[in-house]
Amino acid sequence: MAVSRRNFAKNAVATIGSLGLSSFTGANQFTDQQKMKVVCVGGHPDDPETGCGGTLAKLIAAGCDVTIIYLTTGEAGIVGVSHKDAAATRKAEAEAACKILNAKPIFAGQVDGDTLVNTEWIKKLSELIANEKPSVVFTHWPIDSHKDHQAASFLTIQAWMRANKKFDLYFFEVCSGSQTTGFRPDTYIDISDVQHLKKKAVYCHTSQDPDAIYSSKDCNHAMMEKFRGIEMNVNAAEAFVKMEGASGLQNMMNK
Ligand SMILES: [Zn+2]
Repeated sequence: MAVSRRNFAKNAVATIGSLGLSSFTGANQFTDQQKMKVVCVGGHPDDPETGCGGTLAKLIAAGCDVTIIYLTTGEAGIVGVSHKDAAATRKAEAEAACKILNAKPIFAGQVDGDTLVNTEWIKKLSELIANEKPSVVFTHWPIDSHKDHQAASFLTIQAWMRANKKFDLYFFEVCSGSQTTGFRPDTYIDISDVQHLKKKAVYCHTSQDPDAIYSSKDCNHAMMEKFRGIEMNVNAAEAFVKMEGASGLQNMMNK
């Protein structure tokens, strides 16, 4: 069992390499030719950081430019606080987290708890992503209990299809078990050496009880990082599902 798991992990890393996400030990810098632009789309401030903050930190350390698109500004996320004030607080927290990671934040302008998946927003998000010219995009796994996470995921999938799959699309997990469900990763990134940076970025979101994000019953990212690490025989990892080529769907859309 141990051997096959190890081989699985090796294959997963090889998969990333073949995609150009890295020849990715994290120790090497990308050359100028290999340099990639990366976009991460999250439903709320704190989702990109918890879902793939370690991987983003590694990509940035390797020389990639990373843009984080927050679909909403988390305006419904602080109990007893008006949407306007909560958005201001959460925007500042997200900006602080991006500063730690050295990523560029973009706030797309949807409303927390009331996200829309429609033609207008497919166009808007597609344009926001296209402007960054990414090689790789991360977003939520679509089977998630939070509908804003689903909206972020479906809008990004549409953007990927409409861009003729010009970039590779990966799904991340958040609060697995209570939010992300049915997630069977095929790609792993060892985040052991940047786990502290990820944690620092997550802890910028003070209004969201970062201790609970890391170790509560419903959301235990400490355990998730450890468990994904065990799956690839390292201390800590983040796991992803890669969107496979979908030319069949693409053909259907063009009809
Ligand atoms: Zn969220």
